[in-house]
Amino acid sequence: MLPLVALVGRPNVGKSTLFNALTRTRDALVHDEPGVTRDRNYGVCRLDESRPFVLVDTGGIAGENTHLESVGLAGPTARQARSAAEEADLVLFVVDGREGASALDDEILRWLRKSSRPIFLVVNKTDGIDARAAMAEFSRYGFDRMFAVSSAHRHGIDDLLAGILGNLPEDGDAALLDDDPDRMRVAFVGRPNVGKSTLVNRILGEERMIASEVPGTTRDSIAVDLDRDGRKYRLIDTAGIRRKGKVDEAVEKFSIVKTLQAIEHCQVAVILLDASEGVTDQDASVLGAVLDAGRALVVAVNKWDGLDTYQREQVEALLSRKLVFVPWAEAVRISAKHGSGLRELFRAVHRAHASATREFGTSEVTKALEIAYEANPPPVVRGHVAKLRFAHPGGDNPPTFIVHGTRLRTLSESYRRYLENFFRKRFKLVGTPVRFVFKESV
Ligand code: GDP
Ligand code: GDP
Repeated sequence: MLPLVALVGRPNVGKSTLFNALTRTRDALVHDEPGVTRDRNYGVCRLDESRPFVLVDTGGIAGENTHLESVGLAGPTARQARSAAEEADLVLFVVDGREGASALDDEILRWLRKSSRPIFLVVNKTDGIDARAAMAEFSRYGFDRMFAVSSAHRHGIDDLLAGILGNLPEDGDAALLDDDPDRMRVAFVGRPNVGKSTLVNRILGEERMIASEVPGTTRDSIAVDLDRDGRKYRLIDTAGIRRKGKVDEAVEKFSIVKTLQAIEHCQVAVILLDASEGVTDQDASVLGAVLDAGRALVVAVNKWDGLDTYQREQVEALLSRKLVFVPWAEAVRISAKHGSGLRELFRAVHRAHASATREFGTSEVTKALEIAYEANPPPVVRGHVAKLRFAHPGGDNPPTFIVHGTRLRTLSESYRRYLENFFRKRFKLVGTPVRFVFKESV
């Protein structure tokens, strides 16, 4: 699994600011798209693209009997955050360098030290003050690894990142990835009760004889290889793939960390929705995680069987409104229970996968840019106009195009969208985000 790092500290020391500094993507794939809820507590740090890890902000977590329970830590998210801290590969204990050590810090640290997790001390808000003196304030805690940072100004973040990466285990599920290029990695994600286990077991049930667990993966994550209609798949579980022979085993609880990990390891994420419930905030947050990761996406609208014609029309209308920010994603109506719609689902997964992994040549990409540019050059912005010179492919899953030119900063959001749509149409890309990286020529 992807390593897990937990931010722990009392309220107001700057945990969420640090969280944002670490999880902000460099060239954000989707900027703040309306309709996508970012789950503030969980994110993936990709500042080093080759070594992503899951970051959890535990909120103002505290010891068992403390007054901090009043900070609003009851509820499932807080419980999850707290158990995440207990399972983390590394804990970042965040303190406020301006205020110095407080009784609450002492208490939290006592709680943290009850578990044997490695802990770094992160002294935040060291902008504009003497960082050494601030660190000295905390020397009585006896930490080997202390970092002075200013999350707000992104000072010290690179050193902290290097320290984190130097102390994290390798991704335990890398075995999921390096393998047969013809085997498509598909994850089934979604909030609890949308029907993930029913769907996956239905798919496996049909093909039980040729499904096999993937060796070399960690015990907690479950992936199953499947051959179906002459195609090879690796199904990556977030909750419900039950091991063969243990069909009655209780289905695991929803885990945000596992969801992020499954998304990271897949090429295509199938997000399940419950047709009778529309798109909830939690659904939108899982969608946001898929978009952040740049994965191909298929929306499976499940439990379609339970609706009458009128309800179906209502759901259709609702979905088209709620999913406007991912117009490129295909939505398929299915019933996991009855097994209907599965053929269409697999077709959509194939289309998304083919688009996401299509290989491009430099000449076709530059050609596309030229035609797009000539048909509709960027408008003049305050006397300046961007020039687009050439483009080349920059990777797949998602398809990435590197565009070179001058004054690219002046390119408006709507012009960027025009380019994206032009490329999508020309290359018939469906079911996948598309990423543009703009490079200023010198
Ligand atoms: P949390 O409750 O621990 O998540 O803390 P927040 O991230 O919400 O930050 C609390 C306050 O401290 C906010 O007003 C932030 O703007 C401020 N803050 C966070 N990081 C820094 C920093 O590095 N320097 C300064 N000067 N202020 C910061
Ligand atoms: P998970 O938590 O996402 O794995 O969801 P489950 O697969 O455990 O399903 C939750 C509930 O929804 C169970 O009671 C299922 O029987 C029910 N369910 C799943 N798929 C369907 C479906 O296609 N139609 C109907 N009517 N119910 C379904």
